[in-house]
Amino acid sequence: MDILIKNSKLREKQYNVNIGISQGKIRSIIPSNSESNADIEQKADTIIDARGRLATPALIEPHLHIDMCQSGNKPDPRHNIPKTVHDKSDEDLYNRICRMIGDALQNGVTSIRAHVEINPGIGLKNLETAIEAKKKFADFFKLQVCPFPAHGFFRDKALGRLMKKAVRKGIDAIGGCPSSEITWEDSKNHIDFCFKLGKYYGKPLDIHIAETGDPYSKELEYLASKKIKDSYPGPVTASHTCSLSSLDGYKARRMISLLKEAGIGIILMPGVSLMRNGCGIRKRTPVPPL
Ligand SMILES: [Zn+2]
Repeated sequence: MDILIKNSKLREKQYNVNIGISQGKIRSIIPSNSESNADIEQKADTIIDARGRLATPALIEPHLHIDMCQSGNKPDPRHNIPKTVHDKSDEDLYNRICRMIGDALQNGVTSIRAHVEINPGIGLKNLETAIEAKKKFADFFKLQVCPFPAHGFFRDKALGRLMKKAVRKGIDAIGGCPSSEITWEDSKNHIDFCFKLGKYYGKPLDIHIAETGDPYSKELEYLASKKIKDSYPGPVTASHTCSLSSLDGYKARRMISLLKEAGIGIILMPGVSLMRNGCGIRKRTPVPPL
């Protein structure tokens, strides 16, 4: 036995248990008051006494703008991306990402999906740096890297070309941000472009969508219907989805059942959404009633 965690609590058990781990896998879970523990304890290389604390599976952070973390910028609710972040050096960016992963590990998080900005100004610098950090920690940390085209493919055609390059860099999911386009037609084309890339490269999609709290936003409905009509095989995730919270009861129920039918994953960001709400950027509390 490599590690024995004794006296730990599990959610579904009323009594404390001893958890035996060897070669990175849990091999035994037995009540802490069992007589067989004495023998196991003798064979364990390392013993950790949890003293009645809860043991849980490792945590997952499903949505983090890791290239923006630990930059010392004050959060600005009017902008998704603090403007000064991109002025920092490549070394600073790499160090901040590594620090963020270290902090995550210390708090029980072993997997992060990172949305990393790409734009014609910074190119693929942030994305390549995140991929470098992903490789460094690959033995014990799962960092998924997803390019985040915050400026809109149809506002700036160069971003579409950059996105194609990004996909060939070894990313884990294809990001999108249709709200950043100028017209609804462009937003639809933006979503279509993401599906086309995802299908061609066999990647999951994770789209920043319906971020405005606008009850008339059609983005979420279009995303779900597109997945159904295209019979898109890969996972599709809708991130933020603030406008869902602005729908009234009937429309919300209809939308939720459509999302369920399409099999769309939903990632909410209550912290960010509430901050923007508190700053008067949005008029409602945009936490969807799932
Ligand atoms: Zn985001």
